[in-house]
Amino acid sequence: QGSMSAEEQPTTSGLENGHQEPFVIGVAGGASSGKSTVCKMIIDQLRDQRVVVVTQESFYYGLTDEELIHVHDYNFDHPDAFDTELLLSCMKNLKHGKAVDIPNYNFKTYKSVPNARKVNPSDVIILEGILVFHDSRLRDLMNMKIFVDTDADVRLTRRIRRDTIEKGRDIKTVLDQYSKFVKPAFEDFILPTKKYADIIIPRGGDNDVAIDLIVQHIRTKLGQHDLCKIHPNLYVIQTTYQI
Ligand code: ADP
Ligand code: MG
Repeated sequence: QGSMSAEEQPTTSGLENGHQEPFVIGVAGGASSGKSTVCKMIIDQLRDQRVVVVTQESFYYGLTDEELIHVHDYNFDHPDAFDTELLLSCMKNLKHGKAVDIPNYNFKTYKSVPNARKVNPSDVIILEGILVFHDSRLRDLMNMKIFVDTDADVRLTRRIRRDTIEKGRDIKTVLDQYSKFVKPAFEDFILPTKKYADIIIPRGGDNDVAIDLIVQHIRTKLGQHDLCKIHPNLYVIQTTYQI
């Protein structure tokens, strides 16, 4: 904070007075659909707000030694692969203006490091991940739900590129995992959560118009938050009549 000029000071003082809750955005979509890219574009355009991104990937359970031996049979795309209770408790705390410690998941060792990263409450909290709409309790914390809708062939192409080049895996392993787990899990668990979205973005990060509209909406909502700080009574009116 020391480096911020006066006009860049975050407008979160309302949090401490209990008048302002962070605006929570959920970003879901298939693996390699462009979720992280969409989040980055939203953050870049919301430069004057404090935004923090929590990714569901941080909440992967570490694998046991037994699971590590059969790692090719482990389903990383299943809801049970994530510690949803911990994610929920972190999101609740952030929503109530409390800082949290979140784990870090290491994709090389398949181990989870607890309390690896401190996340401070912010004006905007983005939760992104393939299955962030799966649990109704997580959905209920969100003020805006975005589904990034990218064709399966584009997702597969990006995944092959990423897993072979960035993660050093061989193509056969990537394709086996795709047909065995990634595709079925998309159809069984991820696609059915599309109906919960407020906004569906076709083509993800390629869609500048959608990102512009989303950012405008967030600004409007945050503006209303600011109003709440000045006139706390309005808060009641607003929540009552919110659509
Ligand atoms: P996700 O977070 O949903 O897995 P990412 O945003 O990380 O998806 O995108 C997956 C890959 O696709 C990355 O390598 C990223 O650079 C690339 N990518 C994402 N969006 C676009 C886009 N609009 N055009 C080209 N490449 C993209
Ligand atoms: Mg990502």
